[in-house]
Amino acid sequence: MTAPTSTSKAVCLLSGGLDSATCLALARREGYACYALSFDYGQRHRVELEAAARVAAAFGAERHMVARIGLDAFGGSALTADIAVPKGRSTADMGHGIPSTYVPARNTIFLSFALAWAEVLGSSDIFIGVNALDYSGYPDCRPEYIEAYERMANLATKAGVEGRARLKIHTPLLRLNKAQIVKLAQELGVPFGLTHSCYDPGPDGRACGQCDACLLRAKGFLEAGLEDR
Ligand code: ZN
Repeated sequence: MTAPTSTSKAVCLLSGGLDSATCLALARREGYACYALSFDYGQRHRVELEAAARVAAAFGAERHMVARIGLDAFGGSALTADIAVPKGRSTADMGHGIPSTYVPARNTIFLSFALAWAEVLGSSDIFIGVNALDYSGYPDCRPEYIEAYERMANLATKAGVEGRARLKIHTPLLRLNKAQIVKLAQELGVPFGLTHSCYDPGPDGRACGQCDACLLRAKGFLEAGLEDR
């Protein structure tokens, strides 16, 4: 991997959760000027956008853009339609099948927006905090998906076709478990309290403690021996 120059720009997808915050912190540590990108996609946990803004400011992102894309017009997910968010699932339950919190084509859409912004910025680097180990079975978080997307992106862009730059999708968390991500976040100084993971927060924005995102987060902190402040 080529080391970034002082002017290297990266587009960092930022949901406001712990993983994407850690991913942004890593991009900053590697020396990239970070352009944070979040989505108001009609998610029930829209409060995560406030967390994203806090995290972007805390890590000195050059800009923080919130794109409005209204995936709730289609629905089809517990996060974008009136479908109950699964609660209290065991790790074994989370280990097979694709849950109702899967949002159809979400990462494909997010990465396409990131790709568009990267091309405008003259950036060849996109960071996304996907994880293939402690994740909820989403097909668009798998390594083979990311590899295929990167190949497609280099066929799709002007910079790629003209051979001026090769776009790289950075997935530094891909093969870490949740406890390793928590430890890495701690090492990078990610302020845990600024992040938001819950899929189904209460009206006051507090985490439910029982959705897959809450349970995976709690498991990660427990296994890392750290307190989630
Ligand atoms: Zn929750």
